[in-house]
Amino acid sequence: MNNRYSRHISLKEVGDQGQDRLLKKTIFILGLGGIGSPAALYLASSGIGRLVLNDFDLIDESNLSRQILFNESDLGNLKVDVVKKKLNAINSNLKVDTIDEKLSVNEYSKIISKTSFVLDCSDNFETRLSISQAAYESNIPIIHGSAIRFEGQLVVFLNNGKGPCYSCVYSDNEWLENCQGNGVLSTVPGLIGLMMTSELLKIIFGIKSQLVNILLLWDLKDNTWKKLNIKPNPNCKICSRC
Ligand SMILES: [Zn+2]
Repeated sequence: MNNRYSRHISLKEVGDQGQDRLLKKTIFILGLGGIGSPAALYLASSGIGRLVLNDFDLIDESNLSRQILFNESDLGNLKVDVVKKKLNAINSNLKVDTIDEKLSVNEYSKIISKTSFVLDCSDNFETRLSISQAAYESNIPIIHGSAIRFEGQLVVFLNNGKGPCYSCVYSDNEWLENCQGNGVLSTVPGLIGLMMTSELLKIIFGIKSQLVNILLLWDLKDNTWKKLNIKPNPNCKICSRC
C-alpha cells in the first residue's frame, strides 16, 4: 500500500493516517454519466475503501463522447455493472456495491445513512431534490455537481443539522433542463467530476473546503469562476422545517 499511494503519503497533509482514513470511507455516487464517471474513476485510483454506485441507465452511443469509463464494446450494458468491473480492474481492493434502480427519498436515506459522503452526479432536478432531502435528513454531507453547454457548477453542504441545503438554492422551476436537449461540451462534466472528487478528498484529509455553502459557477467560454454564498432559505421545504 505504501508504494501504491506513496505520492499521497508524501504529502504532509495526508501521510499514512490520511490514506488510511480514505480506506475506511464509503462514498455513495448517484449517476455514472459525464460527471460520475471521472469522479468514480479517481476515487477508485486514490484508494477509497468502498463505493455504492446508483444508476439505472444502459450505455448508449451518445454517452461515449464524455463518459470516459465506457467504450464501444460496452454499449447496451448496465452502467453500474460495467463501472464496477472497470474500477476493480484499477483497484482490486476496492469494494463496490451497485444499485440499478431509481429509489425513493426513504430508500435513499436508508442507504446513505450508512455511508460517509454523497456525490450527486445526477442529471435531473427531481433526482437532485430527492437525494438532497435524503442526505439532509440523514446528516450525511453531499457535493452536488452539474454541467450544461459550456457551464458547470458545484457546491458542498455538510448537512450537520442545519441549512442551507440544495432546496434553499433552487426554486421548483429551475434546472429542469439537462444536457440531453441542450448539449454539453465533453470536457465540462469531466472537470466538474474531478473537482467534486478533489473537494471530497480534501475534506477526508482534513483540509478545509472553500466550497461549503458556496456555489462555484464556471463558464468555460469566458473562463470565469464565480462564487455565490448560499444562505439558509427560511421558506425551504427541507431544512427550515427541522
Ligand atoms: Zn434548505
